Amino acid sequence: MNEELIAAARALDAAGFMPNKSGNLSRRTARGFVITPSGLPYAGLTADDLVEVALDGTTVAGQCRPSSEWRLHADIYAARGDAQAIVHTHSPHATALSCARRPIPALHYMVAMAGGTDIACAAYATFGTAGLATAAVGALAGRRACLLANHGVVALGATLAGADALAREVENLARQYLLLLAAGLPPVLLDGPEMAAVTAQFRGYGRPA
Ligand code: 13P
Ligand code: ZN
Repeated sequence: MNEELIAAARALDAAGFMPNKSGNLSRRTARGFVITPSGLPYAGLTADDLVEVALDGTTVAGQCRPSSEWRLHADIYAARGDAQAIVHTHSPHATALSCARRPIPALHYMVAMAGGTDIACAAYATFGTAGLATAAVGALAGRRACLLANHGVVALGATLAGADALAREVENLARQYLLLLAAGLPPVLLDGPEMAAVTAQFRGYGRPA
């Protein structure tokens, strides 16, 4: 499991989602969660660098300093029983949109992957603070992903693969949205009933017949 976390972090870094060792990943454990260390480049990361943290921030296992965003992860795990893994990125297009504090509307049906008809942008708070954690939990209400104002993206999942895929999709949607805005083409938004139909389609998608 820890190897999977490191592999996911490295792949996101290689894809340009974690510039200058930004972002962090975690997965839930019986005692709290295992999270990437603060400030260490992903390329050289080993399982020994991961830190297990209790929900109150106490280090349970590991030598390194846990990610400065441990509160963000802890508060999401505390609030969201459906979160088994969390991916936080500074992926370029989604981060650009977050700097304009723009939510992503239902411009494409894949917005439903985050659980609703839009992807909200949490109010600004300084990185690594309890205020940022509170803002993110609020913006995640009824959703599995949100933007963090002037900062980046956070996505949760029932699995690490699910959180990773959603963080990648948020970047994809943000890029599409920015392309439309740059072209001066306001997107034609999908309405609530259509997004509900998409959500129903997702329930059977990819399953054996
Ligand atoms: P860490 O290196 O402490 O995880 O911080 C990166 C980050 O994205 C802060 O928001
Ligand atoms: Zn960050």
